[in-house]
Amino acid sequence: MFCFSHYKFVEAFKDQAGRVLKTDEIEKMMSPRFIVNKGSVRPKAHSDKGEASACKCANTNDRIFDRIKQGLYKVR
Ligand SMILES: [Zn+2]
Repeated sequence: MFCFSHYKFVEAFKDQAGRVLKTDEIEKMMSPRFIVNKGSVRPKAHSDKGEASACKCANTNDRIFDRIKQGLYKVR
């Protein structure tokens, strides 16, 4: 099982593979579908650079994003 927000990301980005997005753009894409609190969208937790508290998808082939640099992500 992945964390709760993982499935929100999957839903919001399922047709966006290859797009490069900033964190605030990711927040904007999440917000029409889901209630998003500023700062609660943490793409890093679903990337190849996820830290200890990250979603289980971090650093696996199920991750949602590749982190290009701080605040910039590519949808997988
Ligand atoms: Zn995840």
